Amino acid sequence: MEHPIIIIGGGASALMLASLLPKQSVLVLESNDKLGAKILISGGGKCNISNSDMGTQYFLGDKSFVTPALKSFDEVALLHWLQRQGLEPVLRKQTQYFCKNSAKELVDVLIRNAKKQKIILNEMVTEVRKREGIFYVKTSKKTYISSKVIVASGGLSFSILGASAIGYEIAQSFGHHIIPTAPALVGFTIQKPEFFFKTLSGASTQVLISVGDTVCKGALLFTHKGLSGPAVLDASLYWTKGKISIDFLPSFDWQTITQSKKQISSLLPLPKRVSKAFLLQLQLEDKPYARLTPAEVKTLQTLSHYTMAPAGTFGYSKAEVTKGGVDTTEIDNKSMMSHKEEGLYFLGEVLDVTGQLGGYNFQWAFSSAYSCAKYLKEKH
Ligand SMILES: Cc1cc2nc3c(=O)[nH]c(=O)nc-3n(C[C@H](O)[C@H](O)[C@H](O)COP(=O)(O)OP(=O)(O)OC[C@H]3O[C@@H](n4cnc5c(N)ncnc54)[C@H](O)[C@@H]3O)c2cc1C
Repeated sequence: MEHPIIIIGGGASALMLASLLPKQSVLVLESNDKLGAKILISGGGKCNISNSDMGTQYFLGDKSFVTPALKSFDEVALLHWLQRQGLEPVLRKQTQYFCKNSAKELVDVLIRNAKKQKIILNEMVTEVRKREGIFYVKTSKKTYISSKVIVASGGLSFSILGASAIGYEIAQSFGHHIIPTAPALVGFTIQKPEFFFKTLSGASTQVLISVGDTVCKGALLFTHKGLSGPAVLDASLYWTKGKISIDFLPSFDWQTITQSKKQISSLLPLPKRVSKAFLLQLQLEDKPYARLTPAEVKTLQTLSHYTMAPAGTFGYSKAEVTKGGVDTTEIDNKSMMSHKEEGLYFLGEVLDVTGQLGGYNFQWAFSSAYSCAKYLKEKH
């Protein structure tokens, strides 16, 4: 008798894979007491499923690994699939697809499609071994056997929702290399020179953040712990350590204001308390712009390229994703199967592929699941 395909995890990629294999026997092992816990809280409870502006430029990871999966099941294919299941995502913020009312709509679709499969909740996988061509998947309660194991256990972020290191541990136990992991899509903590940011908690403004060659655009939010907001979260994807440069005045035209008699704090397109705090920090008097000396103008213009070194990030407990993960050079980019171990597959966030904000991480979870499902169906 053929043993069921074992999927470790009951999150986005696992549920998509289980949904796409209706004719195969599948066993889903999830440590939580419910499925799709991250989907349910994502996107402010409405789940940002995907993005109409799709492409490998929005992913950190090997583009040649990401491309085939994204091509075989892109945002259009995903939308069609969801529409066929009765889910009609809505476009918000110009390019981002969300569930219309609640993320539960998506989880319900996935569960409905996977209902034929055996799903076991409250069972934590602790180890996977292989002997004589058979995988032994040990959980907190028993051991299951199969010839195919799919690791869809996600990253380390939000352990409160069931995240664990099991995916990396399994990969390592089969000889895989792990690209060092770190929290991503997360806020930055700050060092002493920026402690004054804390007094600005709650204020936000549009910025451009440069991290190396990458520029992240969007809102920056000052918080009591440091910096957050979409631009900062995206910047955290590319930051490892060292300095970043923030343009606090991205659409400000310095040329048109040279003769302005307005006070600087009224002139700068920033919340007034932010302008005032920067003036204090830069030791500039709040006076009409036209009265600034050339040296003072130069000092003020540093706001267009404010350089700072974050102390770190808010950590895994606040990070939306984990960057790094299973080295994709050791994974087949069409089937998601390990080059090191026949029958062992990796999907979604556990791999060294991480998307920016905007639905890219769910798209990756679903695209990688689709590639794997296609291969398993063809092979069957
Ligand atoms: C607050 C928040 C908001 C987010 N919002 C968005 C968004 O709007 N759009 C977007 O694209 N991305 C978003 N993300 C990221 C997205 O949720 C993940 O990238 C995506 O869920 C990854 O899918 P996955 O299948 O790889 O892992 P997951 O969906 O994390 O699923 C992994 C599953 O494995 C289970 N598991 C872990 N260890 C074990 C074990 N030992 N035994 C058994 N089961 C185990 C976990 O409980 C979990 O259910 C958000 C993340 C967070 C934390």
